Amino acid sequence: MKISHIEHLGIAVNSLVEAIPYYEDMLGLKCYAVEEVIDQKVKTAFFQIGQTKIELLESTDPEGPIGKFIEKRGQGIHHVAFATEGLEDALDELAEKGVQLIDKKPRKGAEGLDIAFLHPKSTFGVLTELCENKNI
Ligand code: ZN
Repeated sequence: MKISHIEHLGIAVNSLVEAIPYYEDMLGLKCYAVEEVIDQKVKTAFFQIGQTKIELLESTDPEGPIGKFIEKRGQGIHHVAFATEGLEDALDELAEKGVQLIDKKPRKGAEGLDIAFLHPKSTFGVLTELCENKNI
């Protein structure tokens, strides 16, 4: 298991159109990509801060994971994503150690990353994403 840095923080917002100007005009960051991830029922907007990104998440469907999250808990930090080397092996190792996985195998996320989520029950309440960029 080797985590190199925090790849991104996922933040649930009601509206990208409303939230992006806060990050750009107040914090001086630049949104460099907006992307829809259809199977996750979200639109995402990305900001780079050093090695780490902010990923804003707007739900495209109230029944999707972000729609349900906002309904239950309101806007705010949704998940932490760790850049992980050897994602597939890392998932096997965690499963062996008894960590509850949402994704037993990596799948494709935004920006073409391989991603997998760990269940908050096993991570002290923090929805945790492991991701690996095989394009670099
Ligand atoms: Zn994410």
